[in-house]
Parts: sequence; C-alpha cells; structure tokens
Amino acid sequence: MIKIKNLNKYFNERHVLRNINYNIIKKDRIAIIGPSGSGKSTFLRCLNLLEKPTSGQIYFNDAEITNNKTDIKKVRQKMNMVFQYFNLFENKTVLENIILAPTKLKKINVKKAIENAVVLLKRFNLEKQKDLYPKQLSGGQKQRIAIIRSIAMNPEVILFDEPTSSLDPEMIDEVLNVIYSLTRSKITMVFVTHELNFARKIANRVVFMCNGKFLEEGTPEKIFNNPETERLKNFLKNFK
Ligand code: ADP
Ligand code: MG
Repeated sequence: MIKIKNLNKYFNERHVLRNINYNIIKKDRIAIIGPSGSGKSTFLRCLNLLEKPTSGQIYFNDAEITNNKTDIKKVRQKMNMVFQYFNLFENKTVLENIILAPTKLKKINVKKAIENAVVLLKRFNLEKQKDLYPKQLSGGQKQRIAIIRSIAMNPEVILFDEPTSSLDPEMIDEVLNVIYSLTRSKITMVFVTHELNFARKIANRVVFMCNGKFLEEGTPEKIFNNPETERLKNFLKNFK
C-alpha cells in the first residue's frame, strides 16, 4: 500500500532521515519506537507530505506521491494524521470539528455528515460533548475527538504521532482503547509511541528508529524479546 524507497530528509546540513526503505501493507499496524530526535515525527510527516523529502520516492497505492504533480490534499484525505496536541479548531464545536473536512473536502452534504458524526460520537461515548468547544473538554476527550475527526474522513491510513504523550496518565487508556478498537476495521495504522506495552499488543510490525535509520524492524515478539542491537537493548532497558 505504501512503498518507501531511499527516503532522505535533510534540515539544512542535518541528515534526519537516512535512506529509509520500507513497505507498508494494507491493514498493517506499524509501531515506530525510538529515542527522541531520531526522526520519527519527520518520517510520519514525510509520508503525508507535511514535510518534503529531500530525495527518494514514496508510493501510495502504486502512485508516486513524491512528484510535483501529486494533489497533496487528496493524499492527506486518504492518509490522515493525528497529532500529539490534537490540533482541533478551538472556535468550532466538537460536531463542527468533525464535519468540517467531510463537508468541505469530500463535499458530503451537511445532514449526512452530521449523521455520520453522531454515529461515531455514540460509538465512542462522546455524544454528550457534541456541542461543546475544545476548551471545555479534557485532554483525553480532545484526543478522542481528534481521532473521530480523522475516522470521519474514512481514510485508508491513519498516522498517529505520539497520540498520548501530552495526556495525564489517567487519560491515556481511554485514548489507547479508541485506537485499539480501530484494529477491528480495515484501517492501516502507523503510530509513533512511547507506550511500549500498547505497541506490543496492537502492532503487527515494530520499527526501532535511531539516528534517522530504521535500525531494527520485525514482529513485536522479535523487537521486544529478541532485540539484536545494543542500541535497542539499551532503549528497552530504560523503559523497564
Ligand atoms: P522524533 O520525532 O524522533 O523526536 P523529529 O523527527 O522530531 O524526531 O526530529 C528529528 C531531528 O530533526 C531532530 O534533530 C530535530 O531537531 C530535527 N528537526 C525536526 N523538525 C525540524 C525542522 N522543521 N527544522 C529543523 N530541524 C528539525
Ligand atoms: Mg516526534
């Protein structure tokens, strides 16, 4: 579904992604772990072209999206991103946040978009919040709304960049549960996380990023129980 070939990213002189090659298959749930500054966010942002790769190619459903002809907005509709700090529109209600992209980008009519949104809000127990503004919500609620907003676009892929790392501990599980529930759908997921137990539970592949490289890659079993490199062994030790 997504093919990454010789992906490099520089910020000025700084070589942040170093020749990454990787394939993501439909319904994969890829967890990306690794120390801070290793390039995890930059990698995710390159996938949906929030950052422009310096060199290399990314293919999405066989179309190269790293050429200039690509309609980036179309790509982002199919490959949505959920951010650490939610990025909800503060001046819009929960419902307005959710229906904005479906009505504006996908041209779904407002009535239908509201119906869809309410179904999702009910499913995740947030119906009561539909007319509130983001500032009236807890962090966990905001992030669940941000995820619902993403799902409302019916994307093929959702990219999560540390979706729980800005949350108070008691709110982490409610957000992880929402992400976990998506494993029953056909959505492909790539998530950067420091929640290693969660990664182990829901990922089918885990990538350990270090210094801009995919240093190790494999099943959760391999990465967490049989790490090969000293770098990964140390990283895991620090988490225990
Ligand atoms: P991670 O998400 O693993 O913590 P990032 O992808 O955010 O790592 O950052 C990787 C490296 O790239 C870091 O050294 C960071 O300082 C640098 N970096 C990230 N974004 C920018 C930017 N917009 N301009 C310059 N340097 C950046
Ligand atoms: Mg990051």
